Amino acid sequence: MSELVLLAPLSGWSAPLEEVPDPVFSGRMLGDGVAIDPLGETLCAPCAGQIVTLPETRHAVTLRTDQGVDVLMHVGVDTVALGGEGFRAHVTAGQRVLAGEALLSFDLDLLARRAPSLLTPVLVISPGEAHLVQRTVGHAVQLGEVLMQWAVEPGTPASPPSEDGQQMLARTVRVALEQGIHARPAAQMAAGLKGLRAQVHVRFAGRLADARSATALMTLGVRRDAEVHIQARGPDAHDALEALAALLSRHAPSVAARAAPVPAQGLVIPVAPAAGAVLRGVVASRGFAVGPAARLEQRDIDVVEAGSGIARETAELRRAREEVRAGLERSLGAATGAAAEILAAHLALLEDPQLERLALEHIGQGKSAAFAWRAAIGVSIEALRALEDARMAERVDDLIDVQRQVLLALAGESLARGEPLPPGSILIAEELLPSQLVGLEAGTLGGICLAAGGATSHVSILAAAAGIPALVALGPPVRAIAPGTALVLDAETGQLQVDPGEQSLAGARRQLERAAERRERERAAAQRECRMADGTRIEVLANLGSLADAELAVRNGAEGCGLLRTEFLFLDRLEAPTEAEQRAVYQRIAAALGGRPLTIRTLDIGGDKPIPYLPLPAEENPALGLRGIRTSLWREDLLDAQLRAVLAVEPIGQCRLLLPMITDLAEVRAVRARVDEACRRIGRHVPIELGVMVETPACALLADALAGEVDFFSIGTNDLTQYTLAMDRGHPQLAARLDALHPAVLRLIGRTAEAARAAGRRTAVCGGLASDPAAAAVLIGLGVHELSCVPSLIPRLKTSIGQLTLAQCDELARAALALDSAEAVRALCEAAGEIAPEPARGRLSATRDGIAP
Ligand code: PEP
Ligand code: MG
Repeated sequence: MSELVLLAPLSGWSAPLEEVPDPVFSGRMLGDGVAIDPLGETLCAPCAGQIVTLPETRHAVTLRTDQGVDVLMHVGVDTVALGGEGFRAHVTAGQRVLAGEALLSFDLDLLARRAPSLLTPVLVISPGEAHLVQRTVGHAVQLGEVLMQWAVEPGTPASPPSEDGQQMLARTVRVALEQGIHARPAAQMAAGLKGLRAQVHVRFAGRLADARSATALMTLGVRRDAEVHIQARGPDAHDALEALAALLSRHAPSVAARAAPVPAQGLVIPVAPAAGAVLRGVVASRGFAVGPAARLEQRDIDVVEAGSGIARETAELRRAREEVRAGLERSLGAATGAAAEILAAHLALLEDPQLERLALEHIGQGKSAAFAWRAAIGVSIEALRALEDARMAERVDDLIDVQRQVLLALAGESLARGEPLPPGSILIAEELLPSQLVGLEAGTLGGICLAAGGATSHVSILAAAAGIPALVALGPPVRAIAPGTALVLDAETGQLQVDPGEQSLAGARRQLERAAERRERERAAAQRECRMADGTRIEVLANLGSLADAELAVRNGAEGCGLLRTEFLFLDRLEAPTEAEQRAVYQRIAAALGGRPLTIRTLDIGGDKPIPYLPLPAEENPALGLRGIRTSLWREDLLDAQLRAVLAVEPIGQCRLLLPMITDLAEVRAVRARVDEACRRIGRHVPIELGVMVETPACALLADALAGEVDFFSIGTNDLTQYTLAMDRGHPQLAARLDALHPAVLRLIGRTAEAARAAGRRTAVCGGLASDPAAAAVLIGLGVHELSCVPSLIPRLKTSIGQLTLAQCDELARAALALDSAEAVRALCEAAGEIAPEPARGRLSATRDGIAP
């Protein structure tokens, strides 16, 4: 241990950090130290060292001591907003300074008028390496007086300054994440940096957050389109910066429908709704349910403040976190899609180094493990709430959830608590935490009604993924509904009928039974091959993203897989899957399909699908840059391994290869050469069917030329629409206009199908339009004979197709092609669809294939 003495960098009044009106400082999110209310106007070095950061706004400076510890001095609160006005720097980044040397000067009067507070935190921001021994607070201090003493562990500096000053790499990135930096992207950022050694920070609005700390990142309150400054220092700083930039500039569309988030209700004493009352809420997960009300009893967890010894409490906390970690990992192993992302975010919060540090500090001060954990997370919860951003406030649930899980583990209780709910009951609660929903026997739940909550909350996403109808934001009266009260939950129109009377109940039950019978009939009929009313054969396949999808698809009558998005194997990990790993997964999916065709698309990354371990060059416009087949041809090593893995799947002949983002023949020929080489390497003599995704107008317009080179076409309407209409597929303002039924897109589909037919090739559609029940007739009329859709839609789609004739479809397609807008085509298709009984209704789907029932 060596000693680090920090002198007062300013004259003034020393105060505890709790007094700084900024939760990031008062909550010690960046580190521990002292705040000074300044009387002087020159900030001086508290010790000797090297200047490592000095932003253009000159309102803060970080000094690295010779022991490798970083000391941050931040003049006033929110002073970044002054844009440098009133500040003058006397040093530059990289410069060595002596203790007491002037670093920067500021105009105290101007700051007093323009900044919310002058309190100047002086913090050690690498507390893992240093322990605070003593500090002066609540006193007048003179410049140069001893302010703090720290004990620094030997040999711990993560990145000692090198001869050249070990330049910090930095860049500014515009955040494209739709909901800003919230729990899931924060967790992904921490995960993406796991194998790297660089120190990485994100700076926003004058605050600095460790990019490995999900809580610190969330409390920055970064929204979509904000510009953040990311900086990295260390041996692999460049890779870290690239990985982080890729994640931040990734446009990750939300996985649930949007609705205005609703703040939690206060302490209103609710009045029970009268019999026959109808409450209105926000649809969080579509569906219909009839059943008795049931409550989830939530007990407060008692927390004792005083601990029984540092060693014992530390061990207790470790045990409880381990227990929760094991539970989360178990659930994660069985989860897919959005549910998996949410569980991964909880895991990252549980492992957040900052939360752990804070908790251990509390234990060090004699508190119990439960008190310490609750207090540590409490700081972040308050900080998030203070942001007054409703979407961020929704993410508080995740913190409360992780807080509660550990407190339960500390209290020796399991998550599955209380009596199980009666099957088919409709759960009533103020709010529900994701872990509570996971802990319930979700399969037996009829529906969910929450007084508070928002449609984008994680519990709503989980409910939608599990197919449980749910309404949120029903208001306080819902809490007063007595258990056992008969309820009719219509999570299509957003209504909850309370005790509606025998007649209405019977009607609702009949409706539910009819819907269930119809689904059953459709599911049973879906096991047969799909034929139109006139006998024309149409193949209905499934889009898959995992083994679980394949199993569901087969149960629902899929005639094979028209698109396996192999990205799922490559995302959320630190290095590419090996050839053997890939082969094993493809083989399991092929087996689950029981011999039905399996169309495997080569890796489609880049654009809106970056992966951290494959940093692509920074691109002005990634959607028009290195993506799809372009990335594969740029990284032939990845392509070759993937091709060999696919070619080895048995039985030979079950798999087809599909190439994304093709624009010309040269790309197809280049891949074909790699396929031939891979066949030679593994000794395969049987050719594999090779198809291209028609996702660019260029590909559709060259379909006649391409038809000579490929075995089939599969139209990716998501990208084809984006590139034809020149509208970003993830743009929220353009979402309503981004309709694949646009006549320009339909003409390209028609042209492709025509070219394919002339050359005796098949045309499939695997984009979102194939999962739009209104579009099936027009697609068939345009010459498409294979539709690949979300697994849950298959029974419904097969039933609808069975009621159509080719002549009707041809006529509809001709009429659609003559129209001049997507609205007109949609109206035409929907009017035609009304002839068919019970048009499909949507259930929210967390897939890229749009709405599926
Ligand atoms: C498409 O673009 O329509 C498609 C199926 O590919 P993805 O959605 O995976 O980009
Ligand atoms: Mg695509």
